[in-house]
Amino acid sequence: MAMSANFPPAAREPSPLEQALKQFFGYDSFRPGQRQIIEDALHNRDLLIVMPTGGGKSLCFQLPALLKPGLTVVVSPLIALMQDQVEALRNNGIGATFLNSTLSWQAELRAKEAILNGRVKLLYVAPERLLSEKFMPFLEQVESEIGINGFAIDEAHCVSEWGHDFRPEYRQLRQLRRRYPKVPLMALTATATARVRTDITQQLALRQPVTHVASFNRPNLYYEVRPKHRQSYSELLQIIRTAGGSGIVYCLSRKKVDELALRLQKSNISALPYHAGMNDEERSVNQTRFIRDDAQVMVATIAFGMGINKPDVRFVVHYDLPRNLESYYQESGRAGRDGEPAKCTLFFSYGDLKTIEYLIDQKPDPQEQRIARQQLRRMIDYAEGTDCRRTIQLSYFGEQFTGNCSNCDSCRYPKPMEDWTVEAQKFLSCVARSGERFGVTHIIDVLRGCKNQKIQQYEHHKLSTYGIGKNRSEDDWKTLARTLLHQGLLDETSDGYRVLKLNERSWEVMRKQRTVFVARPVTEIANRTERSLRSAEVEMLFDRLRELRKEIADEQSVPPYMVFQDSTLRLMAQQRPQTLEKFGQLNGVVNYKVTRYGERFVAEIQAYCQEIESAVPAENLPSDTQQLTLELHQQGLSPAEIAQKRQLSPSTIIEHLTQLIESKQPVDINQLLPFERQSEILQAIETVGADSLKPIFDYLGERYSYDEIKLVRAWLRSGNDILGF
Ligand code: ADP
Ligand code: ZN
Repeated sequence: MAMSANFPPAAREPSPLEQALKQFFGYDSFRPGQRQIIEDALHNRDLLIVMPTGGGKSLCFQLPALLKPGLTVVVSPLIALMQDQVEALRNNGIGATFLNSTLSWQAELRAKEAILNGRVKLLYVAPERLLSEKFMPFLEQVESEIGINGFAIDEAHCVSEWGHDFRPEYRQLRQLRRRYPKVPLMALTATATARVRTDITQQLALRQPVTHVASFNRPNLYYEVRPKHRQSYSELLQIIRTAGGSGIVYCLSRKKVDELALRLQKSNISALPYHAGMNDEERSVNQTRFIRDDAQVMVATIAFGMGINKPDVRFVVHYDLPRNLESYYQESGRAGRDGEPAKCTLFFSYGDLKTIEYLIDQKPDPQEQRIARQQLRRMIDYAEGTDCRRTIQLSYFGEQFTGNCSNCDSCRYPKPMEDWTVEAQKFLSCVARSGERFGVTHIIDVLRGCKNQKIQQYEHHKLSTYGIGKNRSEDDWKTLARTLLHQGLLDETSDGYRVLKLNERSWEVMRKQRTVFVARPVTEIANRTERSLRSAEVEMLFDRLRELRKEIADEQSVPPYMVFQDSTLRLMAQQRPQTLEKFGQLNGVVNYKVTRYGERFVAEIQAYCQEIESAVPAENLPSDTQQLTLELHQQGLSPAEIAQKRQLSPSTIIEHLTQLIESKQPVDINQLLPFERQSEILQAIETVGADSLKPIFDYLGERYSYDEIKLVRAWLRSGNDILGF
């Protein structure tokens, strides 16, 4: 083996591009693709950039804009997005401005002046304005006096009728190429299909563009599907309460949005509704409150999300089934744009499926119906699938993914497979014996020996398969039927009635030439969140820094993420820089922000470090499992409920709680037993001593459980004062 292999690689000097990245944006390294794109842009190439949401597209034109002489003009369709980006740039100390209808004429004049003085590096405009007769002369003047170094066309799929958001005014952008033949064009989009890509290149007349298509994999997103049932609401509450940040909950209808938002508010969650039935003002108020972290949860129809730039969304829940996988990808993709871990949960029920099928049946055009049905089928494949969720999603975009992502429920908690060949044989022969003329429900009724009218009418109680499936529940049989359909071991007609038909493979199953495996649902999807696995200390400091950030953001009327992103706060909480110099070295911190905010954050960190030095020694910190019990306790769950939720024995939970109490964790004893009972146990302890439990138990005349005694004894040992003692 070569000697040199034993030496650690020498720390590399940052390249000039990396230095610029740090200087202007505070980041240490490029995201995948960014460096190459920026180099191409610096060589004045035309570019087509396809990157998923959160991939970091903006930086691809922002950094070149700063490095080239002259002005970059950014075309953006949405006023809110424009303002947002300009604010973020200014907040990093970069000269940027926008021109749109919201500006007064004085403000517009000032902006134009700043541009002509060369104080602006990035100008954001809407397409219709850019190409208006009034604006063209100004643009000419800029070109001759300052120079235009590039046009960046954001949301470029808007030029394509095949995209999901066609805007005719985008078609006019073609003129740019004619009027400014020397200025390079960069088109950016998050829409993945090849059709849209070709369209963009043609419509904008891009010149031999370098095309960058990034992977649509979003590794920081955790994907999971949960069955929707009566307890789903408590699961939702738990997702919200353990998320450590804001989130979106999507519902199918306006009515459901209103109901769920109200219900969450009653559970003490700051949730707001958003749907197309509300007026513009209500919607924009709610949106601002969500972006500024004044409300934690947005309950919304799919009307919410397009063009909303909130990078720190920590979870997206689909409380109802989305119509297709592409929408699901885009909607859930609004989580974690900042690259930090985020969770995407889909609650799936067959009831929802029925609703969507009903809606599809209402469509007048049979062709449209067919497409919608196909898309729905892919959606169900995703929801029911046992493969890696990423593999299923990415294959939808034509991307190969090897699976084993370890960041989806299928990979983390593979479902146990059971051999149900015998059941499958029963089911299929029942289909055969009843003449392949019936649907799933009827077949199950026959198997389970029901006595309904339809069975009488067809004399199906006389079939040899009648009642041979009583040992399984209706749900089990439904699961089996779906599995058979999925695995292609059975067919179903789709024209009007859904009749089951046998195929070649069905017969192979019946002839014992094939085995059938069914995935069983995992009852305890580990609800543990990333959060509970992280150390409590980092978490506590993170929460304090979040509060400080919110305070500063409110003072300046900006959304909190503009002050610092979650990832930067997390680094602060982990590395705890206690000097301004160390603070400035954190990834995501530019000099400008050190000057503006450094002192307050460093002071908070110093205060925290002093507090923990004088506090509990580390070995007294709760273990992960105790921490989880503590969190549930703090959410108001009783020990029995915690035990049930965690599938642990009640005595284990009591054990956790006593240890938590003894290590001075914030357990509320009054929540566990009423004051009168506490005081009677205390009296007993004072009389017979606390060394062993039995004497206390006996003294109390067996009216108190050992658990109660343990809790109170722990309380006493921890040196806590119980009221009056
Ligand atoms: P997109 O427009 O592709 O959805 P953005 O340009 O809004 O994505 O970037 C998403 C997030 O990633 C932003 O919060 C941005 O500040 C951050 N980001 C971009 N590039 C980097 C980088 N090199 N390092 C760290 N964060 C980055
Ligand atoms: Zn996976």
